[in-house]
Amino acid sequence: MTIRLAILPLLLALNFSMCKRNPSPTASSEPATSSPTPAEATAGGSPGPGVAGAASAPKITKPVVDQTAQTLIFCYHRLVDKIRYPGTEITPAAFEAEMKQLKDAGITVISMQDLLAWKRGEKNIPPRSAVVTFDDGWKSQYEVAWPMMKKFGYPFTMFIYTEGVRGGSLGGGEAITWEQLADMRDNGVDIQAHTATHQDLREGHNIMLAAPGGKRTKTKLTGPQYEEWLQKEVVGCKQLLEQRLGIKVNCFAVPFGSYNEHVKEIARNAGYEAMFTVYGQPITFTSPNDSLGRYAIEANKPKVFVDAVKMIGTSSAGATAVAEVGATNLSTQPADGDTVRTALPLIKANLSGVGAIEPGSVQMRVSGLGVVPVSYDPKTGTVSYQVTQKLRENSCTVIVSAKSEGKKVEAHWTFGIDATAAGAPVAAPAKPAPTPKK
Ligand SMILES: [Zn+2]
Repeated sequence: MTIRLAILPLLLALNFSMCKRNPSPTASSEPATSSPTPAEATAGGSPGPGVAGAASAPKITKPVVDQTAQTLIFCYHRLVDKIRYPGTEITPAAFEAEMKQLKDAGITVISMQDLLAWKRGEKNIPPRSAVVTFDDGWKSQYEVAWPMMKKFGYPFTMFIYTEGVRGGSLGGGEAITWEQLADMRDNGVDIQAHTATHQDLREGHNIMLAAPGGKRTKTKLTGPQYEEWLQKEVVGCKQLLEQRLGIKVNCFAVPFGSYNEHVKEIARNAGYEAMFTVYGQPITFTSPNDSLGRYAIEANKPKVFVDAVKMIGTSSAGATAVAEVGATNLSTQPADGDTVRTALPLIKANLSGVGAIEPGSVQMRVSGLGVVPVSYDPKTGTVSYQVTQKLRENSCTVIVSAKSEGKKVEAHWTFGIDATAAGAPVAAPAKPAPTPKK
């Protein structure tokens, strides 16, 4: 794959070196943007009143996400009627058939941003879903793929290497234009980064450099020169896309899937939330965001697609299967989103609706306390715990889990604590306890 894909930029360069070039988009003169790290960017939204008071009850809005959901990410390149490079091309008919297969298999196509929101625990996604991505910025993606995606109502992501856009040093007649990208942006298409010149990013590899005037040389860069080049590829690409299109770029597809820890670090520091390779695998809740595998779909390997569709839902990778139960079904006390006026609440849930509970499998976790010794009454299905050490935060998350018919079931809920009303001060300003992730 690496070798086959490696010829792509070269082909572009060879095929279209005769094309008329527009002046390159001006390099940014602004200082490096201090993009927030993913953690900072997503830390908001947690409940938490400022100064404690009766009227400042926290609003608990964090949803319970299905951590057993799985997603396939597909990567396509060029759509052409006559396949000449089967490694990166597919016919429009084959592409359309695959999009239909997803629908037929009950796999929902979701946006990349929804996938990432789910991984942050902010949004639910269907149990079986797919994300469709297109690499390298070919005009057939605009002219052929996009109308089809519209017909299906599918969102998708474009991974663009900036010098490959028409007018760039590697952007020929088959390349997408900035105007086409702006049109896609205006219609909700997600546009993300795929470096500046589409090369192996690891130090020690031959690097193609385009000198002013278009002359290309191959050279091995090391030390500070390599670092400077790497910054342009990883950070410069993001800045250019963001400035040229007025968007936020948080995803980075690594050319050929070739990178190492240093490249990852540079990308993380640049504010990328997720990095993508071409080693396809079902994405689970616990898949590391710095190496999310995509299935590269090629004309001569239709089985890759078929196998990926078969994989989803049957893969045991990642989180163990847990059935989430809505807290409202358990008549929890305190209820999800309620605020209590004591730092020593009685916590209760009723598991009778869940099914037959295996004795001894009932467990309760309380944020700030960990696993607590619960009482469980098998007759009524009630699990309860009287808190004996004051809860110190102004919100508290409870996780109750049990085994039922061989399956783990779990419920999460969060309530607020306003103990000041009862005269028992809590730590203030308290840090709200986020719903813990497994
Ligand atoms: Zn590529």
